[in-house]
Amino acid sequence: MEYNTFLLKYAEIGVKGKNRYLFEDALVRQIRYSLARAKGEFKVHKSQGRIFASCEGEFDFDEVVDKLQHVFGLVGICPVLVRPRGDYEQLKQDVVAYMKEEYPDGNFTFKCFARRGDKNYPVPSPQMNMDFGEAILDAIPTSRVDVHDPQITVTVEVRENIYIYSRIIPGPGGMPVGTAGKAMLLLSGGIDSPVAGYMIGKRGVKIEAVYFHAPPYTSDRAKQKVIDLAKIVSAYTGPINLHIINFTDIQLYIYEKCPHDQLTIIMRRYMMRIAEMIANKTGCLGLITGESIGQVASQTMQSLAVTNEVCEMPVFRPCIGMDKQEIVDISEKIDSYETSILPYEDCCTIFVAKHPVTKPVLKAIRLSETHLEEKIDEMIQTCLDTDEEILVSTHMKEE
Ligand code: ATP
Ligand code: MG
Repeated sequence: MEYNTFLLKYAEIGVKGKNRYLFEDALVRQIRYSLARAKGEFKVHKSQGRIFASCEGEFDFDEVVDKLQHVFGLVGICPVLVRPRGDYEQLKQDVVAYMKEEYPDGNFTFKCFARRGDKNYPVPSPQMNMDFGEAILDAIPTSRVDVHDPQITVTVEVRENIYIYSRIIPGPGGMPVGTAGKAMLLLSGGIDSPVAGYMIGKRGVKIEAVYFHAPPYTSDRAKQKVIDLAKIVSAYTGPINLHIINFTDIQLYIYEKCPHDQLTIIMRRYMMRIAEMIANKTGCLGLITGESIGQVASQTMQSLAVTNEVCEMPVFRPCIGMDKQEIVDISEKIDSYETSILPYEDCCTIFVAKHPVTKPVLKAIRLSETHLEEKIDEMIQTCLDTDEEILVSTHMKEE
């Protein structure tokens, strides 16, 4: 059966009351953004607590479903058969034709679920349920009604049109991006930070990102990899403004002046400081990292405390309690894994000490940082002045 319309369901928790329209408008905007990359023309409109997307001209069903599965806030994607209101006898036949075509082997248990969005429709819902059930049983004798645990629930919704559907393809859940402010993601080329960005984006937060690049120690391919990762995340979150910060001079300076077992932790503190400065300038309300307790020396409880100490903004770490495998599972689901494991070095691996401190003491780290006093402010300013901004989106042309 040719479906060209999708009824899109969203969870109603938290969207009651006067903010509901903000939620719905953001959702419609994100649906349009996501569908803009699919072949075909689409109309997206709201109607009485429902959102419909209809496709005009040629389109690819699987592609449209895939694009809709990238829209946070959607919990169900239902391909619907749309029929005009009017002839009730014809409607019964349409319901039967729908069932025959969708479930051709005829061997199923079912129940009918009629809903009237418009109570002026002349036939009450219980009557519709009986009439459609009877018509299906007559036409498909191998089917059976089971009102308690049916294999198929065929829903018939009466609105400005009549919508018939029985399949609910799961959406990603979450809240539509743009309903919860913006945060700055520290995006490296690894597995964890794209997952962290995805998870915060899923709660409706718009994502801005920063990558600390250290040429020539990190290559152009490493930078391109981060752009590619931002692009994968942006398929869910919408366009991401990515800041590429040239961090080489600061890294070399730390390398020259500070004890080598403290390099990573001091470097992480400067990354957080600079990220926060850009976050403040760009209206972000928090920072996001891919840290997870105990994963590496710089992510022990002591290291996290010392890193966190330089930030005034809240730092969101959605992977904090996850095992590596759980993070990998999400990265596979969102399609970032294959890109993340490409072997281009990131700046941390080059300046990493053989035996980094695992329990840094704040006083000692602060003392080491005093060795940087002469030039560090100027260097930070240079980083900010040479910030290369790239607006990354799935609509970008391939290089
Ligand atoms: P990831 O898989 O996200 O790279 P990781 O396990 O390699 O994480 P670290 O290198 O210790 O862990 O980095 C911890 C977090 O710090 C990262 O998740 C990321 O948010 C941030 N980070 C690290 N390196 C960079 C970088 N070069 N640019 C931007 N953010 C970075
Ligand atoms: Mg990393």
